Amino acid sequence: MTARILVVDDVPANIKLLEARLLADYFDVLTAQNGADALAICRRAHVDLILLDIMMPEMDGFEVCGRLKSDPRTAHIPVVMVTALDQPEDRVRGLEAGADEFLTKPVNDLQLMTRVRSLLRLKTLTDELRIRAETAHLINTQDMLNGTREGEREPGHVLLVDERVTSQERVTRILEPIAEVVAMSDPQAALFEAAERPYDLVVVSDNFSAYDPLRLCSQLRSVERTRFLPLMLIAKGNASHTVTRGLELGVNDYILRPLDGNELLARVSTQIRRKRYDDYLRRSVRETIELAVTDGLTGLHNRRYLDSHIQSLIERAAARSRPLSICMADIDRFKAINDTHGHEAGDDVLRELARRIRQTVRGADLACRYGGEEFVVVMPDTDAALAESVAERLRVGIESAPFFLKARNLALPVTASLGTATLRAGELTPEPLFRRADDALYTAKRTGRNKVVANAA
Ligand code: GH3
Ligand code: MG
Ligand code: MG
Repeated sequence: MTARILVVDDVPANIKLLEARLLADYFDVLTAQNGADALAICRRAHVDLILLDIMMPEMDGFEVCGRLKSDPRTAHIPVVMVTALDQPEDRVRGLEAGADEFLTKPVNDLQLMTRVRSLLRLKTLTDELRIRAETAHLINTQDMLNGTREGEREPGHVLLVDERVTSQERVTRILEPIAEVVAMSDPQAALFEAAERPYDLVVVSDNFSAYDPLRLCSQLRSVERTRFLPLMLIAKGNASHTVTRGLELGVNDYILRPLDGNELLARVSTQIRRKRYDDYLRRSVRETIELAVTDGLTGLHNRRYLDSHIQSLIERAAARSRPLSICMADIDRFKAINDTHGHEAGDDVLRELARRIRQTVRGADLACRYGGEEFVVVMPDTDAALAESVAERLRVGIESAPFFLKARNLALPVTASLGTATLRAGELTPEPLFRRADDALYTAKRTGRNKVVANAA
């Protein structure tokens, strides 16, 4: 899908100019002539990126940017400020308002395209995470903003790769209010360091006497562990080639020498903020996925997970002619435990049983809470005899030591009945296998409980 870019400028001729260039590159373009219209469009329509003029009557670009970034509905849209004034103070003010990037008028074509493309690439990634997290209804966007703000109070962790000690010291001193800086002068060692420890940002300086700093940038982008780690380049004022190549390689931002301390501070803080936002989204998505497949009480996999995986486990076993068995376990007289000691004590029993199951089975086995007080263990590479002995070990593990009920401060003997079944040759669906295990379990219940019954193949 084509990215949609909103161009905001009070001068129609400026809008026309940028619009023409963006249209020539097949972007979808929206326009606004003042801040209020821009804000309204962003709230109403889908916008991927904003090119925002600073000098506008009534509401200037700083204010528009500040409002966009503090509204959860629009905070994720990257903002490029377009300014006629190439003043470092303006950049700092813009970055403080949350701007992601700057362009100076007259806008240089190459810079426009590289910066727009690199921001859009980043946004595509973030969008995907945001949509997944939002559709899961697990987070609301206000929490998301709060979550990022909370993180901001902690110092960032920055890895600085710079050959010269004096320059290392200077950067470290500038960043001191917001970040803990680890400085290294050997790029190869830095590559390992970045992959080993959780940094928020890597800053690479181009002042090496005999090393191409872009090599490190490219390596950081190709190593799995550092692929998404923000990367900033410090380049000589006349090194536009290095900067352009760097941005193409996936460098997130750059700053030119002579270093302006405030700008460095503001840019590093923007990168850290963005990293925390991404981390937060990633974490939410991961938690959502975990929640969907985990049983909240016991921490074992839930039935949904089992149902979605059993088919492929069976197919894999059949394809390799390997055995596969399942064990179904059900607590004996569990209703009586609930009735006598309360539901919370019952929950303690379920948790403890899950713990004992986890202790008994191998890593390759899939242990699930199948229903209320019923558990299933799927055992790949396990024949009928082995499955029966695992089930017996589990039975003994349950019977041999009483369950401690925290809710009642009481140790209670618990037993379970178990049924096992093994996949038959030519069987490619789980239903018959589960039916046989269920039959075996029923036989165990009927013939005295606290026992294992194997449904012989
Ligand atoms: P049997 O030996 O025949 O299996 O008897 P039972 O009492 O264990 O079996 P029954 O199916 O009659 O009762 C199961 C009980 O498990 C009833 C239900 O209230 C309880 N239960 C189901 N899920 C939970 C839970 O999440 N927590 C607690 N505390 N109890 C649960
Ligand atoms: Mg039971
Ligand atoms: Mg039952």
